[in-house]
Amino acid sequence: MWASGTVQSTSGEESIVSLSNGNVIKVCTSQLLPANPGILEGVNDLIQLSYLNEPSVLHNLKRRYSHDMIYSKAGPVLIAVNPFKDVQIYGKDFVTSYREKATDSPHVFAMADNAYNEMMNDGLNQSIIISGESGAGKTETAKFAMQYLASLGGGYGGKECKILRTHCILEAFGNAKTSRNDNSSRFGKLIDIHFTASGKISGANIQTCKHVQLAAGERSYHIFYQLCAGASPALRERLNLKMANEYNYLVQSDCLVINGVDDGQKFQKLKEAFDIVQICKEEQEQVFAMLAAVLWLGNISFQVIDKENHVEALADEALTSAATLIGCAPHELMQAISTYRIQVGKDRIAKKLTLQQAIGTRDALAKFIYASLFDWLVEQINKSLEAGKKHIGRSISILDIYGFESLKKNSFEQFCINYANERLQQHFNRHLLKLEQEEYDLEGIDWSKVVFEDNQECLDLFEKKPLGILSLLDEESNAPNSTDFTLANKLKQHLNSNSYFKGDRGRAFGVLHFAGEVHYDTNGFLDKNRDPLSSEVVQLLSSCDSQLPQLFAKKMFNQPLQSVTSLDTTMQSVALQFKGQLFKLMHQLESTRPHFICCIKPNSKQLPGTYEEDLVLQQLRCCGIFEVIRISRSGYPTRMTHQAFSERYGFLLSEPIVSQDSLSISVALLKQFNVLPQMYQIGYTKLFLRTGQISALEDRRKQV
Ligand code: ATP
Ligand code: MG
Repeated sequence: MWASGTVQSTSGEESIVSLSNGNVIKVCTSQLLPANPGILEGVNDLIQLSYLNEPSVLHNLKRRYSHDMIYSKAGPVLIAVNPFKDVQIYGKDFVTSYREKATDSPHVFAMADNAYNEMMNDGLNQSIIISGESGAGKTETAKFAMQYLASLGGGYGGKECKILRTHCILEAFGNAKTSRNDNSSRFGKLIDIHFTASGKISGANIQTCKHVQLAAGERSYHIFYQLCAGASPALRERLNLKMANEYNYLVQSDCLVINGVDDGQKFQKLKEAFDIVQICKEEQEQVFAMLAAVLWLGNISFQVIDKENHVEALADEALTSAATLIGCAPHELMQAISTYRIQVGKDRIAKKLTLQQAIGTRDALAKFIYASLFDWLVEQINKSLEAGKKHIGRSISILDIYGFESLKKNSFEQFCINYANERLQQHFNRHLLKLEQEEYDLEGIDWSKVVFEDNQECLDLFEKKPLGILSLLDEESNAPNSTDFTLANKLKQHLNSNSYFKGDRGRAFGVLHFAGEVHYDTNGFLDKNRDPLSSEVVQLLSSCDSQLPQLFAKKMFNQPLQSVTSLDTTMQSVALQFKGQLFKLMHQLESTRPHFICCIKPNSKQLPGTYEEDLVLQQLRCCGIFEVIRISRSGYPTRMTHQAFSERYGFLLSEPIVSQDSLSISVALLKQFNVLPQMYQIGYTKLFLRTGQISALEDRRKQV
């Protein structure tokens, strides 16, 4: 996309450029961008670049990546480019060397160390916020950050170890192989690590943000394959468990195994992790029973019993197994997924469901059991990590959510994910600006506020009441006879005047996100937003003999109930739940000092050593890295201590000066090189220079 070269001559609007490969080409002068001087090749911090244009940033990161330097800084932000291979930079020796500040090369350890020190010194809660698209390395980065904090907070035993072992459970139940990542997180999480006053880990707490559904045809959550591959013969017998390829939910994708992953072995690890977080054997058995029940539910089939396409579940092995596992009689389960009740006068009358409705009810039950099981597990893990103590000390929170997604076809899942990222971006913008200002204040320099673009208007498009997308979506979800088309029309009717909204033809609409325009297809929006769970099903669960289904049902009854479809369902809309969870997370982050890590996926094939410039560029834009850089451009991106500056350029002084202190030398140099007063400021310890100012001195230095 770009090539580096030297301008040979310029006439009018055209320039002759000789490229580094020897070719000479003619280009439009306005398309030329200045390159950085050689001394800035591969710098640690992009902010040090004199010219902060896109090709310079790309070139710098590529150069570092090719030397396995996967971390770089963009001012306060850490950029991590996924190596897709083991890089030997996470061992104990690295922990020690960052702890002792023996190195200053950018690293997730350095960032975690920084957060820890600020927490200890300033007594402020900290957060490490990790963003990036699917497969960029957020979850791995979060784990490395936790590994570092665990080693600071008390060696490798007890609590610290426990926290690290929880990944195994969370990933088994919350991650799945997708087309973009073999271990893709399908939920968002915020992990708070709690410290005592002396800096030891005292506990931890995990909050999760709703699962997003897997796309049709994708492999399901790892845990199902692990259970099928790893269960002992006795457990198989008790659960009437078959192999993965015998379950409909699992054969929807043709991928039953992942290259290089041994699901059976993972299952053993999972059981160890369960032991560590004190989920007892009986509870483990119940967890496995719920999983087997979900799998068997998927195998239940229906037969049509009348001309109106009404159905009844078949009384076969699938029905019996699922019923036994959840602890009810087969006919009760059959009833719950084949009928619904309507109120007629004082009576409630059972009506048969159509095939499509019955399948929907069955799948909703399976999904509900699974989602409740996940929440229950998180609750158990939290109990074990907190050990009943109320946390009073300081904490560091690590946020790892699903990254911004812009696919060929974007649906309700992308809509939720991107909305979450829009919120996160606002947090990012606001805090970075604040941090930047703090450094200027600290150095005592005058900085009239940079006008800064905020994404509030785009968030308003989502959140405004009553005329925002979320409100309109809920309204339409509750309306009788609504369809995806009526939803799309409603959005267009009310939002067309909003400059962040694009009304498309037919069912689609577009949103101008901070990371680019995304077009959503409203197909399935209403159903996914209602995520209907019939009251029959909740009733059934609450009457089951087993403990977990009862618990799940009880939780459901405690929720604010809202009737959303003619099927007499009782549930808060998905978008509303999602927004609620998101607000809770963001609210918690508000009171912390944030540290940002932006993960970059260098290629879409999950391959080492492959750096695709256009892909990287698109992500840098998405992460808002150029925005960060823009803030710096409007300010003074080059920062050098008086001392470093005078040592590097002092010999260029043409006339000797009286005082030899570094400040005087620096001032004399600025005068000699005619750096205009508006191009620099002198801070207490550092010199602040505007973009491009350092190159004149650098050029001169090279010539000498
Ligand atoms: P998603 O949004 O889909 O959850 P993610 O950003 O969390 O994606 P990860 O699962 O962290 O992505 O990373 C994807 C894969 O990339 C990992 O399974 C691992 O193989 C590789 N990877 C990521 N970071 C590193 C690293 N620092 N060193 C080695 N490999 C890495
Ligand atoms: Mg992840």
